[in-house]
Amino acid sequence: MLKLIDVNTYYGKIQALKGIDIEVGEGEIICLIGANGAGKTTTLMSISGIVPPRRGEIFFTGRPIHEMEPDAIVAMGISQVPEGRRIFPFLTVAENLDMGAFLRNDKSEIKTDLEYIFDLFPVLAERRHQAGGTLSGGEQQMLAISRALMARPRLLLLDEPSLGLAPMMVRRIFDTIEKINTENKTTIFLVEQNANLALKIANRGYVMENGRITITDSAASLLANEDVKKAYLGI
Ligand code: ATP
Repeated sequence: MLKLIDVNTYYGKIQALKGIDIEVGEGEIICLIGANGAGKTTTLMSISGIVPPRRGEIFFTGRPIHEMEPDAIVAMGISQVPEGRRIFPFLTVAENLDMGAFLRNDKSEIKTDLEYIFDLFPVLAERRHQAGGTLSGGEQQMLAISRALMARPRLLLLDEPSLGLAPMMVRRIFDTIEKINTENKTTIFLVEQNANLALKIANRGYVMENGRITITDSAASLLANEDVKKAYLGI
């Protein structure tokens, strides 16, 4: 479904991605783990067209997207949930969700998707008229994920969904990510520092160091890998 070939991305003179290759198959949950500054967020930014690669290619469902504008990439079926739950704080929950469906005009289907989201996160239905910025951190993460789902993506990019959340909330968010994958048939590409949790729900994973992919394997093998255990699992 998604293929990155020799992707090189820069911020001015700083090279953040140094020739990375990643493949995501339809229906998979793939996680990308790595230390601070490894280039995980930049990988997502390159896929979504916000920080396009300077060299290399990115294909989505067989079509090249590395020279497309971000809105065209969303329209193709890729939605990103940015790190830090960047919702619109002064808009209500309902308005935030409307923004997610901005590029769509299939009104009745939008309504069905809204019902699915309220079923997934009932608290958002209760708070639909409340300003997004007044929600708790966990509720804002639910809203950020839901807003991305309102674009009805085939591929959902998630940047550190566990960041700053209490363990119980993290578990709920991860359970829901699994549910979105199985029930909604949405392919998931997940960037996480909480490698233990991410690898438990993923099919396969990539380890990134200093802008390069250093290990790729099944999630089960990565969980058992001694180097991964030492560096990322705190074991
Ligand atoms: P973290 O887990 O801390 O979020 P990360 O793995 O997501 O880290 P990136 O945010 O992709 O890493 O950063 C990769 C490199 O690119 C880092 O060296 C970072 O300092 C640099 N970088 C990121 N954003 C910018 C920017 N806007 N301008 C210049 N350099 C940047």
